Order: sequence, then structure tokens, then C-alpha cells
Amino acid sequence: MTAAAHCIFCDLIQGAAEVSICYEDAEAIAFMDIQPVNPGHVLVVHRHHYEGLHDLPRDLGMHLLEVAMRLASVVKTATECPGMNMVVNSGAAAGQDVFHYHVHLIPRREGDGFDIPLPFPGSEMPDRTLLDAMAARIIAVLRDPMRDPAPRPAPAVSR
Ligand code: AMP
Ligand code: ZN
Repeated sequence: MTAAAHCIFCDLIQGAAEVSICYEDAEAIAFMDIQPVNPGHVLVVHRHHYEGLHDLPRDLGMHLLEVAMRLASVVKTATECPGMNMVVNSGAAAGQDVFHYHVHLIPRREGDGFDIPLPFPGSEMPDRTLLDAMAARIIAVLRDPMRDPAPRPAPAVSR
């Protein structure tokens, strides 16, 4: 974060603003979203400021995911919601408003009016050759240590 940028989540973490915390450990904090889609809408964040998915070290991201997985079950029990969205908006183009990486846990109910419409009604099903070509591009980056910033062994695929 630049010295000039102000981050509301860093304020919450440092106790400089009101917050309703529901989980904390040495790395992560989870708190109630101030404008919840439904009651029980939780945000899971790292204590340190990382802007988005591509700034966050992988091990810290894995820890946040682990916390979010655990809280997903707990929030389901606490709210008795039948559904749940786990959402990350990373980058302004993806709808991120607060530039401190966070995972949303959004309890869902039939007819609550919230929607992440997939498949996207504005898109068409591309030709299989285009899907194959994109898969090949991704595989090429995975196999290129100069272009995959943190390469790891590809999972074994059985066909
Ligand atoms: P995003 O668009 O993914 O960046 O989502 C930002 C989320 O942060 C929204 O759901 C906001 O309601 C939530 N939010 C913003 N300010 C606060 C705050 N002070 N305390 C808790 N949640 C907040
Ligand atoms: Zn921050």
C-alpha cells in the first residue's frame, strides 16, 4: 500500500474503527460485513495489507481459504441458511471496492434477490476449438517457470 492510500480494513484491524469480529488467529481476522447481503455475511482478511489475489503470498491465501472453509460451516449452522457463496473480487475490473484482499462468505436463501448469474446471460458457448486453445495457453504458462511466478508440480491427471 502506498503511504497516501487509506485502507478501511487496516483501520478495523488496528482497532481504529468499529468492527464486529467473529474469528481471529495470528494471521487472519474475520468480521461481519457492514452492509450484508444476508445476516451472517462475513469477510475473511489477512492482518497485513495485500491488495488482491495476485499480491497475496500463496501460503497466506491458503490459510485464508482454510479459515473461510471452517467459517462457512459455522455460519451455515449459526444462520441456518440453505446456501452459501464464497466470493473473491480481485481488481477494480472484477468489482473490488476495498483494496485489502478479502474472502466473502455470503449466506444465501431462495428469493433473497442476490445473484451471481452463471452462466453469464451475456455470453455464448464458444466453439470447442477456442476452449481447447485457451486450455493449451494456460498449460503453456503453467509449464514455463519464467511465466508462472510460483510453479508447483502439476497434479496427476488420470483419464
Ligand atoms: P468488495 O466489493 O469485494 O471489495 O467488497 C467490499 C465489502 O466490504 C462490501 O461488501 C462492503 O459492505 C464491505 N465493507 C466496507 N466497509 C466496511 C466496514 N467498515 N466494515 C465491514 N465491512 C465493510
Ligand atoms: Zn488494508
